[in-house]
Amino acid sequence: MTTGIILAAGKGTRMGTDTPKQFLSYRNRPLVCASLHVFQESPEIDAIVLVTSEEYVSYCRTEIVERYAFSKVKKVVAGGKERYDSVWNALGACPDADYVLIHDAARPFVTEEIIRRAAEAAKRYGAAAVGMPSKDTVKIADSEGFAESTPQRSRVWTIQTPQAFSRPLLVSANELLMRREQMYDVTDDAMIVEASGLAKVKLVEGSYENVKITTPEDLKRLS
Ligand code: C5P
Repeated sequence: MTTGIILAAGKGTRMGTDTPKQFLSYRNRPLVCASLHVFQESPEIDAIVLVTSEEYVSYCRTEIVERYAFSKVKKVVAGGKERYDSVWNALGACPDADYVLIHDAARPFVTEEIIRRAAEAAKRYGAAAVGMPSKDTVKIADSEGFAESTPQRSRVWTIQTPQAFSRPLLVSANELLMRREQMYDVTDDAMIVEASGLAKVKLVEGSYENVKITTPEDLKRLS
């Protein structure tokens, strides 16, 4: 049993719009519908949990899940303050999942092929994150904004979603880190598994098109 977790509980403060970015209109539907559609169609996915903020739960149930007949969505749950709080709530809503694929609602260009690669890697390695080798040189800055170091570009990947895990592994990794109180600056789920030391996270290719809509400039690309 493999469950897709679609994260749509962010406030989208960098977008500067009243409506969170995941609900802005794209091809006449709220943006989150694009990811939901690909997960709905994917043969790898048996069920979907949609996570949104408290005030959007009933809107999502009626105006998204029912209206567009996303039959694989079994639950719409409220997210939390941080991204990992939202993931934690979703993990609680799919106790029977063997594998989970966690995906940002703000990445509408995910494909069935990317979902397949992520799911296969999770089944083989326990943990996988989709990403792409960096085309740019990356520098680590010090706190004053000076270049501190330059990682070897051939080994730098920029990370996307979905990120796919054995559910028991991800639950254990979260529990371990919560006990150690190390839950700060967590920007993806792979970090939690890496920090736990419970498994190595396999990197699998997504696509350069699988971008996250974050700012108004990103939104212009949609049209
Ligand atoms: O803020 P950022 O762009 O990194 O968010 C990535 C994804 O995580 C978005 O789809 C957003 O809706 C989701 N998110 C969430 N709960 C939070 C914060 C972000 O579901 N507390």
